[in-house]
This record gives sequence, C-alpha cells and structure tokens, in this order.
Amino acid sequence: MIAVAIDGPAGAGKSTLARRLAKHKGFIYVDTGALYRAVGLKMLRNNVSCDNLKAVEELLASTELDIRFVEGEQVVMLDNENVNGLIRTPEVSMMASDCSALPIVRAFLLDMQRNLAKRNSVVMDGRDIGTVVLPDAKVKIFLTASPLARAKRRCNELLEKGMTVELTEVLKDIEQRDYNDSHRDIAPLKQAEDAALVDTTELDLDGSFELLLKTVDALAEEK
Ligand code: C5P
Repeated sequence: MIAVAIDGPAGAGKSTLARRLAKHKGFIYVDTGALYRAVGLKMLRNNVSCDNLKAVEELLASTELDIRFVEGEQVVMLDNENVNGLIRTPEVSMMASDCSALPIVRAFLLDMQRNLAKRNSVVMDGRDIGTVVLPDAKVKIFLTASPLARAKRRCNELLEKGMTVELTEVLKDIEQRDYNDSHRDIAPLKQAEDAALVDTTELDLDGSFELLLKTVDALAEEK
C-alpha cells in the first residue's frame, strides 16, 4: 500500500487537488476534515459545547461514524445518515475546528484513518496526516497558499453552492481557523520535517495540480 499525506491550512485546495491526484494514481481519496466536520455537526445538533468534556465523551460514545466510497467519492455516514451535504456550512467549519482541538475527538478518529490507509493505497488530506496519523507515509506534502487567495477560493466554492458570503467574513474565519489549527496543543497544523512545501498562491487549479504531481512523483522516486 502506498500513502500520500497532504496537510495544509483551510482553503489551500487540498481536497480538490488530493481528489484529482487520487484519481490520477488510482488510489482512494480520504478527506479527513469531513470526519471532524461530522463530529462538529453532531455537536451542533445536540447543543454540546467543547467546554463540556463529559457531554462530548457521551456524544462520541453514542456516535457511529463510517466512510464509504461510492464511485470513488467519499460518503460520510453519521449514525447511518449521509451527511455529505450538511457539513460544509461556516457554522460546521468553525465547530469542526473547535472540536478538533479536543484529544478525545482526535483519538476517536485516529484508528479509523489509520485503518483506511492500511487497507488501501490512499491520498489522505488533513492537518496532521504526515505528522501524526501516517508518520511513515511514503510521500508527504504541505500544501498552502496565502490567506487572501484561500478566502477568495472558499467564497467562490460557497457561491457555486448557492451560498452568498462576504469575502471579509470568510477571510476572518480562515485566519481564525488557521490560528486555532496551528496553536492547539495536540496535533497542531505544521509541516512535517520530511514534507515538501507546495505553495499554490499564484497558481490556478491546473497549475497547482501540475506542481503537486511533479512534487509527488519526485518524492516517490527518491524513496
Ligand atoms: O479540511 P477541513 O477544512 O474540512 O477541516 C475542518 C476542520 O477539521 C479543520 O479546521 C481542522 O481544525 C480539523 N481537522 C483536523 N485534522 C485533520 C483534518 C481536519 O484537525 N486531519
């Protein structure tokens, strides 16, 4: 099995590029952020806040989370409900970022991610894949872009889904999430020592993919 670990901040194009890379290589694409989002969604639905650890623990104990792949697309099943269409709102994004700082939430999701990589060749994206989840991954990429470039992309993405949002609001959210993700005590967002940096600020999607593919192939050959 081969694992490509792609980490980086919100809106760097990880999921689009990782999905395309997986298709190109014939690997499975695992979007680990969707798992944190599903937990965040359940917490919002149940009015459970991150301060109430006991309630989070109880909520997790009664949570069945599963990933399926339908025609190569990841479907997140939360308590037997397909939640793919519900986990991309700004509220869920923020709750996912908040709850991802809790060790019990990270532990809850760790084995699931590792097992997926044990059974399949994967392109897995997230924040701590190269550092914590798959430290032995053959290829590690840290994908990033400037906060403004990322905010513009996220706005366009949401617009395409019919959600109108202010660029300044999205930028604020991105900066807040960057801060949360890189300052938490457990599994903070940071570039693994053996990861290659891919910066897509000045590149469009095709240009970013080209650079990513070139970097991945070079790393795979090296090892
Ligand atoms: O990647 P995405 O924006 O969907 O992730 C949602 C949130 O989940 C992130 O803000 C981050 O806090 C958290 N996350 C994480 N570790 C991962 C993937 C996502 O902490 N491996």
